[in-house]
Amino acid sequence: MGRSPARRSRSRGGGTQALLSVDFEDWHQLVRRRLGARDWGRTGPALERQTQALLELLEEIGARATFFVLGMTARSYPALVSAVASRGHEIACHGDQHVPVHRQTPAQFAADVRAARATIEELTGRAPLGYRAPAFSITRSADWALGVLAAEGFAYDSSVHDSPRIRGRLAPEHGEPHVLDAGDGARLWELPPAVWRVGGARVPVGGASYWSVLPTALVLRGLADAGAMPGLYLHPHELDPQPLRAALPADAGRWQRVRGWLREAQRNAARRRAPQVLRAIAGRHRLITYGEAYAQLSGGSGARP
Ligand SMILES: [Zn+2]
Repeated sequence: MGRSPARRSRSRGGGTQALLSVDFEDWHQLVRRRLGARDWGRTGPALERQTQALLELLEEIGARATFFVLGMTARSYPALVSAVASRGHEIACHGDQHVPVHRQTPAQFAADVRAARATIEELTGRAPLGYRAPAFSITRSADWALGVLAAEGFAYDSSVHDSPRIRGRLAPEHGEPHVLDAGDGARLWELPPAVWRVGGARVPVGGASYWSVLPTALVLRGLADAGAMPGLYLHPHELDPQPLRAALPADAGRWQRVRGWLREAQRNAARRRAPQVLRAIAGRHRLITYGEAYAQLSGGSGARP
């Protein structure tokens, strides 16, 4: 695949640029589905509260972000998606059902992406330019998905994450934005989440889930060393002002309760740290959307390639 590394760009504000994103999904809905709750599709008050906190924080630090919106979440909470878009944030695509790409066939993947895109177009009046897979699941066994995205008209992807926690991951030569030859002459920009390369090790410093276990100074050092345009990603639940509770059904078994408790504990640790780490990052970097980065890199105004 052809590659063209991004130039390291100094922003107007003096700091280097970093790309800010949110994977916009309802944590409670997804965890309840994973735990087998029968009524997992039911909506709750948490995502509204989380989105409000997130929008306030973004306003406080003066940043716009790319929201990779899950189709099924958007249909459950259309007013929230409109509220996010009306504040000038970019709406991009996180697929529809949050099924890992490597568990789908190319036809299923194309259908999932189209369903999400149709929902986003209906709510915002615009086709999303970018895509991010659930749990960065465009792995070696699913690299065909990049060709599907290009064929479906996406301009950029942010699904390839060189994190040791992702089994069978695609390992790029470097972690900076680059152009992929997606087959049949199609081009797709890959805008990866930040990974700090220390010797042979990989430290994923771009995700708020990792900020819970890394000191802030180390996150800042890693981002400074991760190359041009390091990518950041958060989830709404990481900004929840209240502790996360998995809200299991009354008849949940012991194993369901243990798994629910473990997920709560992990996620609450990230939740406590995310706002302060993001503020510290905003003090060092000019935060821009992925769409703005694509526009700069492709030399256009954000239009399709
Ligand atoms: Zn997700």
